[in-house]
Amino acid sequence: MYSRIQNNGWRSLHSRLSVPVRRQSSTSILKKKDSITKANISAGKSMHGFLCTDMEHIKEYNMTAYFLSHNVTKTQYLHLERDDSNNVFSVGFRTTPKDSMGTPHILEHTVLCGSEKYPVRDPFFKMLNRSLASFMNALTGPDYTFYPFCSQNEIDYRNLQKVYLDAVFKPNLARLDFLQEGWRLEHKNLEDQNSELVFKGVVYNEMKGAFSETSQLFGQKFMNTILPNGTYGYVSGGDPLCIPNLTHEHLQKFHATYYHPSNARIYSYGNFPLEANLKYLNEAYLSKYSYLDPVHSEVTPQERWTAPKRSEISCRIDQYGGPLEKQNQIAIGYVMSDNTNVYETFLLTALAELMIIGPNSAFYKSLIEKNISGGYNNLTGYDNQIRDTVFVVGLRDVDKSNFDQIESIVNTTIQDIFKNGFEKDHIESVLHGFELSIKHQSPKFGLNMLFNLMPLWNHDGHILTALKVNDLLQKLKQDLMKPEYLKNIIEDYFINNNHKLTMLMQPHAQFDEAFNNAEAKSLATKIKNLTKEDKEQIYIDGKELAKAQKKKENLDVLPCLKIDDIVLNKTAPSLKHSVAGTVPLQICEANTNGVSYLKGIVGTESLNEKQRQLLPFFKYILDKFDTKLYNYRELDKLISKCTAGFSFLLHITEHIDQQGQYEQGLLISNHCLDENLVKMLDIWAEIFDKPNFDNSERMQMLLNNYCSSLTSGVIDSGHTYAMQTARSLVSSLDECKENLMGLKNVMNMQNILKNYQVEDIQDIVDGIGRKVLKGHNLRAAFHHSPTNKEIYGLVDKFCAELCKIDDSKDVNRINWIDSKVILEEKRGLHVSMNIPINFCAKVIPTVTYTNPDYAKLRVLTRFLTSKYLHPIVREKNGAYGGGAMLTMDGVFNFYSYRDPNSRVTLDVFDETNLWMKENVNLVDDQNLFEAKLSILQQMDQPVAEYMKGIDLFLYGLSYDVWKTQRERVLAVTKEDLIEVCEKYLASDVLAGKCVIGDSALQKLVKQDEKWEVINGPQQDTVQTS
Ligand SMILES: [Zn+2]
Repeated sequence: MYSRIQNNGWRSLHSRLSVPVRRQSSTSILKKKDSITKANISAGKSMHGFLCTDMEHIKEYNMTAYFLSHNVTKTQYLHLERDDSNNVFSVGFRTTPKDSMGTPHILEHTVLCGSEKYPVRDPFFKMLNRSLASFMNALTGPDYTFYPFCSQNEIDYRNLQKVYLDAVFKPNLARLDFLQEGWRLEHKNLEDQNSELVFKGVVYNEMKGAFSETSQLFGQKFMNTILPNGTYGYVSGGDPLCIPNLTHEHLQKFHATYYHPSNARIYSYGNFPLEANLKYLNEAYLSKYSYLDPVHSEVTPQERWTAPKRSEISCRIDQYGGPLEKQNQIAIGYVMSDNTNVYETFLLTALAELMIIGPNSAFYKSLIEKNISGGYNNLTGYDNQIRDTVFVVGLRDVDKSNFDQIESIVNTTIQDIFKNGFEKDHIESVLHGFELSIKHQSPKFGLNMLFNLMPLWNHDGHILTALKVNDLLQKLKQDLMKPEYLKNIIEDYFINNNHKLTMLMQPHAQFDEAFNNAEAKSLATKIKNLTKEDKEQIYIDGKELAKAQKKKENLDVLPCLKIDDIVLNKTAPSLKHSVAGTVPLQICEANTNGVSYLKGIVGTESLNEKQRQLLPFFKYILDKFDTKLYNYRELDKLISKCTAGFSFLLHITEHIDQQGQYEQGLLISNHCLDENLVKMLDIWAEIFDKPNFDNSERMQMLLNNYCSSLTSGVIDSGHTYAMQTARSLVSSLDECKENLMGLKNVMNMQNILKNYQVEDIQDIVDGIGRKVLKGHNLRAAFHHSPTNKEIYGLVDKFCAELCKIDDSKDVNRINWIDSKVILEEKRGLHVSMNIPINFCAKVIPTVTYTNPDYAKLRVLTRFLTSKYLHPIVREKNGAYGGGAMLTMDGVFNFYSYRDPNSRVTLDVFDETNLWMKENVNLVDDQNLFEAKLSILQQMDQPVAEYMKGIDLFLYGLSYDVWKTQRERVLAVTKEDLIEVCEKYLASDVLAGKCVIGDSALQKLVKQDEKWEVINGPQQDTVQTS
């Protein structure tokens, strides 16, 4: 379902692969089926033990939905048949824990550690390298767990289906796997029975890290407090202080009742035949079970409160955030509809947008424009992903003295909405957003459908009603135009709603210490209660586990694609290049379903240092000020009424074959329905005419909001920041990236906020606008549908008009900037941060994309990740993740994610080549093929129609260059891997390193490395013991 309110911070889905380094780019497509095999079933008919209870054509998405139920187990099955080669399969369960031991989360990890048919350690990670899946994951939400994957290759699809189904229905759930993935006590020195005992375990560390992200902590506590009675009162991912109460037996019991077919929801999507799925499911699994009433997993609606409640919690200090006295947050929330009430939930989604988002919404006007905060916090929005849906409005970076005022503003704002309703054109712009989102089609359509439907399906809501979006939208249009109807809704859900929670969160200097003390106490109690036999067992387990982790296993039982199954079926996109005015234009006709897409890059190389520093802020405010024709409220209305809204991204990209050259600019994108193209182009022209930045009050407010938003998410993506920071030691290009996108930008902006007058800022951003917003500084790419050819002329005219104002007649190609290598010795940066787990990175500059060694190094990253880094950094040393990747500019990156170690991990990185020398026997045909396959997974990702040819536009990466790269990947030999490892990754090569976390510096430094410490502006406020 569409919403501009995304990413509610509290609905933390714990995913198996949260380290998002794989699969970003690029092109498609494998053996595409010529057409779709229609399922030979209809409502009332049976097939392979399933009865089809409902079948309906959904015209808005051009697909047919089949709803089936297994005759014996009553397993629910939803199939969405659509002519789309990116097929999806998922098996999910309603998992509703009654405690915070993290049972569903640890179970999700442990079922993927080996099963009856596939008794190997971690078949999930192993299959990552044996498949061409375009998506694979396992996710635990507050009340369900599901295992989805996507593939365009039918052989691959069947392989993965077998492994996934066996994992969930017939897992081994071995005790050692529970100890590895969940929690255990272990000797610091495995060989020494007298050495200290510590807590270890993948999920244990993962969850310790999860709550370091303040917004996640706030979200979790808010949900637990506003919905205290049932399963939502607990931490489904696991509270680190409760996880050690979980036993292996409890885990097994939980599996037997919750992962029962009668509690399962199975989903398939795409053009592969349904019949094969049903047949296999029934014969291999479901026919062997009897029915188990899934009443134990039901969520009963939360009993409503008779009076509002208040609550206060504390959090860690953000050392990289604003002044301590302002690091407080507030959230005010109401429990709303039952999410099985499809229309009501749909309506409330629209209502929330009207109330919260953009300068025309009531809360933006009353709360944000008051400038007493750093803007909305991550809880703000409408969460319809759990049974009792919740509306929240909250602010971050608030002074405590403003808490009362904020509460009273929220109340008066609701009264105002009740009295005055919404403006008609504001309503129209919100409705337009819904309409456009139905037309805009991503290659992940089937997967998005699953994510959207799962929360509703989980509580037995009516899926077919939710799929018929046009009907819902029709009713919404009518209802939103009835003021009396809206009055009733506001009255029921807000004014007379006593189920309201106000929660305050304040940083506490001893927050980390308090957790450490509680952890130490829990550890001490555990140890005190150990019997002699327990202690002996711990000692044995530690050694057994280490042995099991090193054991060589026979992986031949796992299915794997063969080289013949892989076909390059992708052709060069048909692109037209022309020049309009002085703007180079790339045009692509594609099946965009009646939507037009425009992207433009403006060069920023002409900016001076001060201006460059404020470029990230400039892109944040570019569509938020008055323009020549409109004030900022009118502009926002117009943008959302005619387009999908602007996106502005920094564009710093390296030359694919000239080492040391890069382009620097700003990428502007937007799309609209074909019929709105003229209007969208007018808005672009308006922005290019330069906004008026004179409104100093607004400037100050946006500056506060921008700075406040910067540190949110740093800990969730800590490995990305660590790699970026390490790379800043390598070249001036990466130093520039770090300044604009990394932690350096966070610190620069805090500095600017403290030391600059608002007039200075206005001058600088105005200067940026004058320099970059020019026709002759632009190159553009345009995707349009075949039905609408005349719109090409419109874009041409738009570009020519833009250039009229300029005197320059030069056609803007790409202005390359020289990058200098600055790494002259081994260096390290320690970003000191008060978090219980670390992020480590090491980076080594290698070769450009078009160098023949690039493909070899690329394959090497996958080989090292699965054979060396994953087993040692994750399985043995307890980090949540670890691996290697190669950036486009040829920097070889090592990283670890949520890692209890630091120097130990850096040593693992340093010893790569030594390990390789000792393990050349692992470089065999199968392992080499698997490493290649996982690179092809990235390269052969399906590409959206509106992204065709975009690599050429953005990076100068043509289809031919891409194809050569793909051929080179396939041609890599065993000797190549060993050779490039020796050549580029020897332990004495110059490298940059970075550790984010609180490890002591003396532990990081090695003799020949020069380390520096980076401290955040609020460093002194944290007390350490
Ligand atoms: Zn996890």
